[in-house]
Amino acid sequence: MYNPAQQAVIDLLGKSADRPDVDASIGSRLLDDLIDGITPYVDGLIPDDPVWVSKHALAGIHSCEAQYLAGQGDFEWSVANVRGIVAHRGIELTINMRTEAAPMELVDEALARLINDDRAAGQFIGGLSEFDLADLRSTAVDKVSAFQESFPALKPQWVPRTESRSRVDLFDGRVVLQGKTDLTLGRPGDKVIIDLKTGSVAPVHREDLRFYAMLETIKLGRPPRKLASYYLDTARAHAEDVSEAVLDVAVRRTVDGVRRLIAITRAGDTPTVQAGPQCRWCPLFESCEEGQAEQRRRQEFD
Ligand code: SF4
Repeated sequence: MYNPAQQAVIDLLGKSADRPDVDASIGSRLLDDLIDGITPYVDGLIPDDPVWVSKHALAGIHSCEAQYLAGQGDFEWSVANVRGIVAHRGIELTINMRTEAAPMELVDEALARLINDDRAAGQFIGGLSEFDLADLRSTAVDKVSAFQESFPALKPQWVPRTESRSRVDLFDGRVVLQGKTDLTLGRPGDKVIIDLKTGSVAPVHREDLRFYAMLETIKLGRPPRKLASYYLDTARAHAEDVSEAVLDVAVRRTVDGVRRLIAITRAGDTPTVQAGPQCRWCPLFESCEEGQAEQRRRQEFD
């Protein structure tokens, strides 16, 4: 028996009566379109130093190029930016466990595994004070609880997969497109790709999912059926059926993003600035007139 929030997820992720028709050759057609679009910009790239293109790179380059470039140095970990990683790891455990576990147990296990991984996030967590660790644990427990309360338990026949990776190498590995989805359900051609979100709704979340759909379609030759961002704080999903038009938008955005990535990171082009909500946490804020003007505008409306 599902609660209303869980039933809403099941209803939303079910098959639409009028699924858009997609041409059988869509995978190869999207690949050709990507290659045609990016070819003019790849001269001088070498496979040993490829241009890596992820959803984060595309989101950054389409938001504010100057901020994206400034963020290419050493990444600074904080309790705020490691929260999502811990929560996602806890949710991944709850999805894959055959027995029920309490959110606190899952988060403790997630923390232990991250620390043992000894990668950058794990090293940061391992060095936290007891108070910071409690703060981190508290938020992660809240997100894992929200997932358990609002998301239906996943049946094996739905073929749930977490952290599923797709990668498309272009131009003999000189440009690499890669993505990692939080959760997929279903088999090729009938998949639902779900991103679990711990913050507010943002238009870029839909673009992230379209990028994943494009990679999956090129990789498997068959597009996923549906894309959904699931917001844990509100227990609401924003879903979209996958059509050729949706995939074409993803190709155009990727081509444009790769063009600008190459221009500013390899060809020395001056990055453009584009103020927006991201100015609040931009490392260039103190010296950026556009960012400060944007901040003043926002404060007037607060
Ligand atoms: S403060 Fe805003 S406009 Fe300025 S560089 Fe940063 S993100 Fe871009």
